[in-house]
Amino acid sequence: MIPTSKPFLPPLADYVGYLEGIWERTWLTNNGPLLQELEERVASFLGARHVVITANGTLALQLAMRALGARGQVITTPFSFIATASAPAWEGAEVIMADVEAESLTLDPAAVEPLVTPTTSAIVATHVYGLPCDDDGLGDVARKHGLRVIYDAAHAFGAMYRGRSLCTLGDVSILSFHATKLFHTVEGGALVTDDDAVAERARSLRNFGQVTAEAFEEPGINAKLSEFHAAMGLVLLPRIPELIARRAEVAAVYDGELEGLALRRPGARTGTTLNHAYYPLLLPDEATVLRLREALAMENVQLRRYFHPSLGALPYVRSGPLPVADDAARRIACLPLYSDLDPEQARMIARALRRVL
Ligand SMILES: *Cc1c(COP(=O)(O)O)cnc(C)c1O
Repeated sequence: MIPTSKPFLPPLADYVGYLEGIWERTWLTNNGPLLQELEERVASFLGARHVVITANGTLALQLAMRALGARGQVITTPFSFIATASAPAWEGAEVIMADVEAESLTLDPAAVEPLVTPTTSAIVATHVYGLPCDDDGLGDVARKHGLRVIYDAAHAFGAMYRGRSLCTLGDVSILSFHATKLFHTVEGGALVTDDDAVAERARSLRNFGQVTAEAFEEPGINAKLSEFHAAMGLVLLPRIPELIARRAEVAAVYDGELEGLALRRPGARTGTTLNHAYYPLLLPDEATVLRLREALAMENVQLRRYFHPSLGALPYVRSGPLPVADDAARRIACLPLYSDLDPEQARMIARALRRVL
């Protein structure tokens, strides 16, 4: 079976080297030395001031909401993974959906602004597939109405925008280091911020609200990452440029094979360097998506409808009509893309797609 995405595992010996250190120190979790080293190295990889690593990306989003004091209403995107909506809802926010831009499928500032009310506290926007949001447009709306901007940058590791990491925009960007992501720690996530006070508060919140040895100022949670998980990150981080280059080669095979077909693909703003985390396609209609999924299944290839259905349909969010997101959710499909996908297999998949079209 060729899956849509596949976790990358490094040579076992590289990981075992780190295990030996863990055994010697008997320091297994609680802000251990490997975790601290990983935070420093991810910060320097991204060019970020603060990186606060958490047990997963969902908790990072929850801590971001708390650390920024975002409550009341938040306006977010219906075209994302469930956690973008469920984490703010879990934090007690009223989640309001605004439509996305047709080109990038990211949150449309022009759709956000009319939804702002006096209780709106934040915009939560996803750089979906590593395609940058309209940071200028969302920033303008946020400044005008005193809102915080949280970016869900779970797809954006390694992507660049206007000469900097796409993971460093907004008041806070949150990352996911889940096994299926481009860079992973098996489970894991992070908050990225320039704000010293927000970073410090997030560090306290991830450790039960602890401020000093015996002082706890507000209720926190356990969002700590273990040394075993941090070790995986330390092994993988130096390989990221090579892994992105290999993904780019597979994407180039798809690009070449699909050239000349009247196929729309979500597009990146100028100034973007893609990380090739995904290979999304907008097929002509839903029936074609289903036919393609069936045709690929016969070749033992998994086609994911990532992201279908639109989050606007969730029973716990508020949303008006979302024509762009609903249409995209019906027509979207992601072709398999991971660093060790054989280019021959990519060619076979593209040929199956040509036949269906
Ligand atoms: C994976 C993902 C998350 C959640 O991350 P976890 O680490 O699995 O909690 C959030 N948002 C998006 C867009 C994701 O793809």
